[in-house]
Amino acid sequence: MRIDVVSIFPEYLAPLELSLIGKARQDGLLELNVHDLRTFTTDKHRTVDDTPYGGGAGMVMKPEPWAQALESIAAAGGADTEGGSHGPTKKPVLIVPSPAGERFNQALACELAEEEQLVFACGRYEGIDERVMEWAAGHFTVRPLSLGDYVLNGGEVAVLAMVEAIGRLLPGVVGNPESLVEESHSDGLLEYPVYTKPSSWRDREVPAVLLSGNHGKIAQWRRHEQFRRTAERRPDLLEEFDAGNLSRADRAAFGELGYDVVDGRLRRRPDGGLPD
Ligand code: SAM
Repeated sequence: MRIDVVSIFPEYLAPLELSLIGKARQDGLLELNVHDLRTFTTDKHRTVDDTPYGGGAGMVMKPEPWAQALESIAAAGGADTEGGSHGPTKKPVLIVPSPAGERFNQALACELAEEEQLVFACGRYEGIDERVMEWAAGHFTVRPLSLGDYVLNGGEVAVLAMVEAIGRLLPGVVGNPESLVEESHSDGLLEYPVYTKPSSWRDREVPAVLLSGNHGKIAQWRRHEQFRRTAERRPDLLEEFDAGNLSRADRAAFGELGYDVVDGRLRRRPDGGLPD
């Protein structure tokens, strides 16, 4: 995969040289280029922002430096920015971090991990002139994506999070691919609690089942802890959970948490509460 990030603070992306993503870059599993938007300006002050039409607080990012930057990236990536026939058949995906975007999640990370080229446009100030996204749609598949329902100062932190979530799904990046399968959100549930040595620590014991060596019981305990944790912390996830193929034991575990299975979906009993 090739990733290009455009920002007025390229140094902000330095953490992408570290840890698993840094190693993936060194190993050639991921090509990642960071571009300074200011190098695509033409005035002596390297201006990237201006006052908003219609008035109001703050500044807006000017369109032309963005068009120059994106055209240059599209050309370097092999895309045909004129929309002709000699570029790759699939447009690169242009991700525009924005609190007004679709919410980024694990399913989107999986979908984006299948792409050949991702380009991230880090906004600052009040954001990027809207016409950039309209124009870019001719050359890229444009995806405005939000990290969550809060406002950051710029897109860089969102890019760090998204690149890490997407990059770790690329083949070979995480040493043991099984660890990706068992994680929170991989199956619509949160992960079970985890423990390590010592088994007794500050008067707190590791749950006995984990020391039993009985792999069947351990698997069932973990699964039911996933149910409990998701019901407690993220009941919204259970509304989407496919409960059609739950075993009798799983249904009973959900029953104790106050849920019935109706038409393949979990329904919270009106009187259902979490057990003490
Ligand atoms: N005026 C914009 C609004 O209310 O939608 C917020 C602009 S914000 C101060 C500046 C930049 O930070 C945005 O252009 C975007 O790149 C980034 N940003 C802020 N919050 C974000 C979020 N929740 N997810 C992704 N990017 C975000």
